[in-house]
Amino acid sequence: KLQGKTALVTGSTSGIGLAIARVFAAEGAAIMINGFGDADEIEETRRSLAEASGAQAVHDGADLSDPEAIEAMVERCRETLGAPDILVNNAGIQHVAPVDDFPVEKWDAIMAINLSAVFHTSRLVIPAMKERGWGRIINTASAHSLVASPNKSAYVAAKHGVAGFTKTVALETAEKGITVNCISPGYVWTPLVEKQIPDTMKARGMSREEVMNEVLLKAQPTKRFVTVEEVAALALFLAGEEAASITGANLSMDGGWTAQ
Ligand code: NAD
Repeated sequence: KLQGKTALVTGSTSGIGLAIARVFAAEGAAIMINGFGDADEIEETRRSLAEASGAQAVHDGADLSDPEAIEAMVERCRETLGAPDILVNNAGIQHVAPVDDFPVEKWDAIMAINLSAVFHTSRLVIPAMKERGWGRIINTASAHSLVASPNKSAYVAAKHGVAGFTKTVALETAEKGITVNCISPGYVWTPLVEKQIPDTMKARGMSREEVMNEVLLKAQPTKRFVTVEEVAALALFLAGEEAASITGANLSMDGGWTAQ
């Protein structure tokens, strides 16, 4: 389905991004993955993606809080795989603390990685998409692009920003064969969620089980975590021809969370 296409997926050495890279590769896309991690594990991932797609797979370790590194990553993608036909802005971090105790450097990092990076990659890939008359931009937002939870001021602000940015760029590119959408998952079981459990335990004085059931899954009527495979399947649909009329949408995949 994606043969001959190039996809740049940020934050794809783990979790949702990796699952998206895997389904895109299974459909034949050449992939640039991005993100941090153990060098041997990343190389193994890269190799398995190339094997699955029969096309090239490249890893770029750009730190998405650095606009110059983002420019270099997009340029390298253009040189090695071709200008991205599909851009998935997925990298994201979280920090849990009350606003009056929120570390300033964490606020800045969340804004840079979760929001500003989406602007930088988009502005850099859109010219070639316009020239080609085809493009797909898929942003991983969050249920927190629509509603809030306490102690996540930076994350909620950044994700609401991603939702607004998505709508704006969708309007700007609507006549160019480019669609721009975001996917808003509820709680997906990934390292990002697992890592925030200790801080939430501290912030709320709860046990691990209480955080899982009374904080995380409390908001999710289905009482189960969303899976990375479910998110990846929606991303694949958005990347396809049948999704040409879906643009500017914020697609919830949250087990009913934001229906409440
Ligand atoms: P994850 O921690 O498993 O993966 C995050 C990825 O981003 C990793 O590959 C990591 O190396 C990369 N990354 C982190 N900082 C980076 C930086 N500065 N530069 C480049 N790459 C960086 O997390 P995940 O749960 O798969 O989250 C992916 C996206 O989904 C994020 O935007 C997150 O906000 C969003 N999301 C997650 C959930 C959830 O419940 N897990 C819910 C809604 C939205």
